[in-house]
Amino acid sequence: MFDIAPGSTLAVLLKNAPLPPLETRILAGHALHLSRVQLITRADHAFTADEAARLSALFARRLQGEPIAYLTGQREFYGLDFEVTPAVLIPRPETELLVELASEYLPQHGRMLDMGTGSGAIAVAVAHQCPDAVITALDASHAALAIAQRNVQRHRAAVRLLQSDWYAALGKEIFDLIVANPPYIAQNDPHLAQGDLRFEPADALTDHGDGLAALRHIIDGAKTHLTPNGWLLLEHGYDQAATVRALLTAQSFDQVQSWQDLAGIERVSGGCRPA
Ligand code: GLN
Repeated sequence: MFDIAPGSTLAVLLKNAPLPPLETRILAGHALHLSRVQLITRADHAFTADEAARLSALFARRLQGEPIAYLTGQREFYGLDFEVTPAVLIPRPETELLVELASEYLPQHGRMLDMGTGSGAIAVAVAHQCPDAVITALDASHAALAIAQRNVQRHRAAVRLLQSDWYAALGKEIFDLIVANPPYIAQNDPHLAQGDLRFEPADALTDHGDGLAALRHIIDGAKTHLTPNGWLLLEHGYDQAATVRALLTAQSFDQVQSWQDLAGIERVSGGCRPA
């Protein structure tokens, strides 16, 4: 337990806090409703009893491991602010690669499908990049769709949201591009018991199997919902690129390839439906 006393200041807190300075600043800014600049100009402001209590509560939760993004309810992704709650995965920087590729592979006025949208981060970011795109984002989780809806509204993005267990509710609908960041962590992967992942929705992280079930299901159904020459782009785990390429090739996708994230890890693989 780390108690912050009323009358204490941010300058003192930054010296004594058991958290990295950046985290201390983010939590203080959130609890005191201060911008990054105000955190500097008001470093000597004495905390009121209320402020001290709010800060102490946030610190206690952070020290128990709760992700910063769930404590503040926000995470920046592709230069946009997204609302996040424990009902959705916290958007990751490596997923920005998928947004970049989607923006590149989507034709003018193209129809894109984002499968397992969670917070809606991918769909909203692509909508922001490609204002003429016709985007559908689906998720099986009603709780996730409620968050996605708020993010779509916040950014006035042209994204249609749909409750669907993968392809189940799509009928015969066809798209020019399908993207997904599906649950791809194997159920026995120790990472699930570490860091932020402990607090994220398990169904968004793992297929409760070998980590390939959702990827396989999406790949197997994609051709029925892709226009000829349409692309399927999938984010996957650091060691799954070769397997995902093999699954795409087995479904006779063309131009099967992988792309590296900023860390140099093959993070997205995809292919094109033959004409
Ligand atoms: N990239 C996330 C992680 O490794 C997992 C996201 C996912 O399963 N789609 O923490």
